[in-house]
Amino acid sequence: MTPVATHCPYCSLQCGVTMRLNPKPVLEPADFPTNRGGLCAKGWSAAELLDHPERLTTPLVREHDKLRPATWEEAVDRVVEAIRAAQDRYGSDSVGCFGGGGLTNEKAYQFGKFARVALRTPYIDYNGRFCMSSAATAGNRAFGVDRGLPFPLADIAHAQTVLLVGSNPADTMPPAMQYFDAGRAQGAAHIVVDPRYTATARGSTLHLQPTPGTDLALANGLLHIAIRAGYVDEAYIAERTTGFAAVRAAVAAYWPDRVERMTGVPVAHLRRAVELLGTAPSAMVLTARGTEQHRNGTDTTQAWINLALALGLPGRPYSGFGTVTGQGNGQGGREHGQKADQLPGYRRIDDPAARAHVAAVWGVDPATLPGPGVSAVELLDRLGRPGGIRALLVLASNVVVSAPDRNRVRDRLGALDFLAVSDIFLSETAALADVVFPTAQFAEEDGTMTNLEGRVLRRRRVLDPPDGVRDDLALLSTLAERLGAPGFSPDSEEVFDELRRASAGGIADYAGISYDRIDAEQGVFWPCPADDHPGTPRLFEERFATADGRARFIRVDHTDPAETPDREYPYVLTTGRIMQQYQSGTQTRRARSLHASATDPKVELHPDLARRLGIAAADLVELRTRRGRAVFRAQLTDTIRPDTVFAPFHWGGEQSANALTDPVLDPHSKMPAFKVCAVAITPIRED
Ligand code: SF4
Repeated sequence: MTPVATHCPYCSLQCGVTMRLNPKPVLEPADFPTNRGGLCAKGWSAAELLDHPERLTTPLVREHDKLRPATWEEAVDRVVEAIRAAQDRYGSDSVGCFGGGGLTNEKAYQFGKFARVALRTPYIDYNGRFCMSSAATAGNRAFGVDRGLPFPLADIAHAQTVLLVGSNPADTMPPAMQYFDAGRAQGAAHIVVDPRYTATARGSTLHLQPTPGTDLALANGLLHIAIRAGYVDEAYIAERTTGFAAVRAAVAAYWPDRVERMTGVPVAHLRRAVELLGTAPSAMVLTARGTEQHRNGTDTTQAWINLALALGLPGRPYSGFGTVTGQGNGQGGREHGQKADQLPGYRRIDDPAARAHVAAVWGVDPATLPGPGVSAVELLDRLGRPGGIRALLVLASNVVVSAPDRNRVRDRLGALDFLAVSDIFLSETAALADVVFPTAQFAEEDGTMTNLEGRVLRRRRVLDPPDGVRDDLALLSTLAERLGAPGFSPDSEEVFDELRRASAGGIADYAGISYDRIDAEQGVFWPCPADDHPGTPRLFEERFATADGRARFIRVDHTDPAETPDREYPYVLTTGRIMQQYQSGTQTRRARSLHASATDPKVELHPDLARRLGIAAADLVELRTRRGRAVFRAQLTDTIRPDTVFAPFHWGGEQSANALTDPVLDPHSKMPAFKVCAVAITPIRED
């Protein structure tokens, strides 16, 4: 068969691959602009899951407390009956929807429309709230727009200094490292900020290792030094920004000695970092989840934006501020209405003009569109409560593993009258459902994804899904029809054409993007408002997307994390990803080749801490927080701070890092504080 060009199903790099049938699906890396022939272990393994023996190939319905196979008709009947029963008894907003950052743009769009038009509920949100919402909020308030990288990824190779905060692409998206490596090979200076001495940090010029939860103080401290050293770009600040005076006044209190005490980063390192940034002709500040997943994640991201603006970076060649997004369609997934407060095109759902525009595309009265709902964690917290959500439909999300404080999440799911889940495998969340729908995988469907650069690209069908499997567009079309809301096409290109019209004139404007153009141009960068518009690889060259065209400085100050170590919980727990696994692990834990290299999750401890606690390498240890416990094998490493331990979050059951994490939310983005909580550590004696 002729090879088909498509993309890896996992992270936001969306590496290009070619696939062919031989006779099984074979996948190889392609020369796409993001990966240029590179692929990580996860991508190489993706085709393994297409015929995996645990794959769901028939709907399941719960009977006598067990799931049994059922026909699509029976499963759909059950869902429709449950929705009607809940809405007849409790009202339309007793039904909720929970989506995922791995859904194509078409599915994310259709899911948002389904919630507002077919269900008439405000309650829809998605797991992207866990992923990049703090940077999105900070980007919107500073620049008037949220696009992960406002420039192509390849620009990183040309930046003479890169400050990378809370990101470890060497492990999470290895093909992206070619751009960092190319810059370093040409003499670029790279500064990595991370409490762990990661694989990315090992290749850097300078590693800053702050106490988790002190990044904002670190950023303000660097800006303090930059102002004193005369590195700020006064002309840029005057011409292109507002609000610097308040920020200048605020950071005056972040003198270097104080910042060293707050963060643990030596003054000499602070000064060196500022010198590398301030003297470079081109420089980038890049952040990621390490910056965001805190109670003050939006303000922390803002502090790094303030630094970038003060140095005059955004909009300059090979310079700027950007965020490395995480999930495959984390960017597009939040642009088209899957988020509680937004309509397609990144429009605010409480904006009357936006409601009128989208309602016209949908053929409904704007007055019938619900208003804003609540964020993911808040939505989960409403499940089964009096006056709350009684029935929930989940697409492409495994919240029992991925949401913070998973014991509470399990309790809330258990309090529902009805839960339906669509997934590839029987995930930990699907196992609790009343109805489970088997859905298509990446190589079995068409659609578009929007990667970390804002590049809209094509996912192409290589083979048909197995008998019994349908994709989520078909599911939503059937459910909407049965609920009396026709007009939900199951065809991805038809849905994309509708999405283009719905997004037209919005911030994330896809009006000029078509499947044909994506095919011809290796993706198209939004905004792209017309067929003859070239797309926008680089934002902010002339103006920002604010009303006055200027970027906004916003004063932010350090606040302590919600939990700091005490006698009962004396250490800091931070969580994150490892190279072989992706998100809740529903897929990657089942890939044989990945499982062979990462069978068990391990908690990273510094040898000094392990010695104090009587823990040897590979011992079982129990981690306890105020919310729960989890058990991991110990991995001793001097790459982590002695007061901090790191646990990966890809596993469920006893190995669930999210049994431990704190569901406290950032007040602006409503993102949970996955990166810091207080933990106790006890060795487990194995006899
Ligand atoms: Fe590329 Fe990310 Fe897939 Fe790895 S997981 S192959 S980095 S898209």
